[in-house]
Amino acid sequence: MEHIYLDHNATTPIDDAVFEAMLPYLRGSYGNASSRHELGTAARKAVNLAREQVAALVKVQPPQVIFVSGGTEANNFFIKGAAGYLKAAQIAVSAVEHPCVAKPAQELARQGWKLRRIAVGADGRADLLDVEKALEEPTGIVSLMLANNETGVIQPVAEVAERARRAKAWMHTDAVQALGKVAVDFEALGVHAMTLSAHKLYGPKGAGALVVDKRLQLRPLIHGGGHEQGLRSGTENVAAIVGFGAACQLAGSRLETIGPRLEQLRGRLEEGLRALGASIFGARAPRIPNTSYFAFKGVEGETLVIELDRAGFAVAPGAACSSANPEPSATLLAMNVEPELARGAVRLSLGIGNTLREVDDFLLALKAVLSRLKGLTAMAV
Ligand code: PLP
Repeated sequence: MEHIYLDHNATTPIDDAVFEAMLPYLRGSYGNASSRHELGTAARKAVNLAREQVAALVKVQPPQVIFVSGGTEANNFFIKGAAGYLKAAQIAVSAVEHPCVAKPAQELARQGWKLRRIAVGADGRADLLDVEKALEEPTGIVSLMLANNETGVIQPVAEVAERARRAKAWMHTDAVQALGKVAVDFEALGVHAMTLSAHKLYGPKGAGALVVDKRLQLRPLIHGGGHEQGLRSGTENVAAIVGFGAACQLAGSRLETIGPRLEQLRGRLEEGLRALGASIFGARAPRIPNTSYFAFKGVEGETLVIELDRAGFAVAPGAACSSANPEPSATLLAMNVEPELARGAVRLSLGIGNTLREVDDFLLALKAVLSRLKGLTAMAV
């Protein structure tokens, strides 16, 4: 059965244009970008073009883009790289960060840093008063994601960056979920560093970047041959980097059309969800246009995801699904959602290829699944 893919915050399919751009570097043009011969020079040129394409999308100079293996590495690189340079102080991260920010921050706490979690309000946005309170302590690092991967809520990064700068802290944002869905401007946000990942914007897995302020001193995570200005050694994954560049160029060219299109699909979806009685999380805050995070009282998110999968729709549960008794999402708990409702959370994330027809088909399937599940519950009583 063909599945309808509604899980674009997990990953996206590679766009045809991106695939075409990558192909020569998987076949004929296999040179090492550090080699001096013609094949090497061709690879170096391709990497440099990709660097320009990534830089253009977030409005920075190309040397500010350091290619790494993805969002997880970029977040680890920033946090551990900054800590390798700064004197141990406080690291403040929001309570709704992705584990690849939250866990390196915990690691710093084990090394003598003070970890401070910034509270979020019921709408999922970081609480600016809590940021100010946190910054009363000497702070080295502040990290706040630009858009949350579960709720899609857009965070007040520029406001927090302004406060962090005043407190002489280094400000980082994980922009993985925002890139390609809304305009992202490094300078306008006022951050010192920003994390990007290719596979969330129709590029390949295994490529990403840390974008840095030129004056920032970071300690490398990976030492070796001195690639990427000595900040990230290892032979460049040329094809993936080329794909990342092509994906950024494509994203820039359709940024103005993709937003309204996704908004329209989500509007239709959420109208239907509300009619079925769903609670929608973060809906009162500004959000990236493709994400909807919802729950139905008394229906487990996991069950809904499995049933929808059987019906041909790929969506994601909000709870960590690795255990028999799934933990409700930490993001929802931070937003003060009741654990029982949080256990019902399902995330649907739309992409450029989805249609109104697919949204309507999804709503029909959801309605059928819900009435079957409710019927089963009624029988069990
Ligand atoms: N940051 C956020 C907000 C994400 O959603 C993800 C992926 O789910 C990552 C970082 C990790 O990126 P990557 O998969 O490229 O390591």
